[in-house]
Amino acid sequence: MASFLSAPHFHNEAAAFEYVEARLWANGRYCPHCGTVGESGKLSGKSTRHGVYKCYACRKPFTVKVGTIFESSKIKLNLWLQAIYLIASSKKGISSHQLHRTLGITLKSAWFMSHRVREAMKEGGFPLFGSGGGTVEVDETFIGNDRTVKPKGEKKGRGYAHKNKILSLVDRKTGKAKSMVVDNLKAATLLPILQANIAPEARVLTDEAGQYGKLGQSFAKHEFVTHGAGEYVSKTDRTLHTNTIEGYFSVFKRGMIGVYQHCGHNHLDRYVTEFDFRYNNRIRLGCDDQERANRLLLNVVGKRLTYRTTA
Ligand SMILES: [Zn+2]
Repeated sequence: MASFLSAPHFHNEAAAFEYVEARLWANGRYCPHCGTVGESGKLSGKSTRHGVYKCYACRKPFTVKVGTIFESSKIKLNLWLQAIYLIASSKKGISSHQLHRTLGITLKSAWFMSHRVREAMKEGGFPLFGSGGGTVEVDETFIGNDRTVKPKGEKKGRGYAHKNKILSLVDRKTGKAKSMVVDNLKAATLLPILQANIAPEARVLTDEAGQYGKLGQSFAKHEFVTHGAGEYVSKTDRTLHTNTIEGYFSVFKRGMIGVYQHCGHNHLDRYVTEFDFRYNNRIRLGCDDQERANRLLLNVVGKRLTYRTTA
């Protein structure tokens, strides 16, 4: 079997355009200017760039890159497809330095590319976690230092106040995770987030931390394991644990520490999105590397406007 990386769309820009067009225009070629479907023709000629079409309705030219994370990028589309594949298939992520060396592009381009790909990793439209009375694990973890928080007095450097805090939920039935950066772990901060993401009929599992003390008032059931006493799985109920989410955190931390070597507080939400995306499109849910890269490609549309700088 040939290496998957030997496919033409990774090496040839014309093939890359065809590959992307076949996927983003699966329901017909779409003019991004006026929205007309199926009324355009390919412009040909020596000076014409790859994949330029002219809309017969509004008479404007367009390519499949318009309105996507690829728009106004000078990087060849086949290199974008390589980047997408590498980011989608690397379980712990891939650094901008590595992309820069592997793809032969500048570090700056690699950095912008990877952040745009992360933008395409944003997923929405999940049903509430625990819908229909399912089980949801909730836990938090700390990663790196949040330099926007000033350490105070003698406690400087101790405790968790100065760390970045990540809150994650896992729905055991769907196998999906949702994570977010939170400012603090107070009940008043976390409760509205949990209420917005978890169905009232859910069974919610946490550890014994005080901020989760009153969850029973918002959800059908709240149970906890007492990590402080060395209890990770309840002896009376083997389904009572937060080990699924601990597994998620272990991949996240190995990636953040080993590959990304931490990152600033202001970009952390993008990395969280990246680890959620790979987790939610993982092999155990029937999604292999190629399928994950394809889903990511389908998600590049409408994600461009977040970035003003181009690479
Ligand atoms: Zn048009």
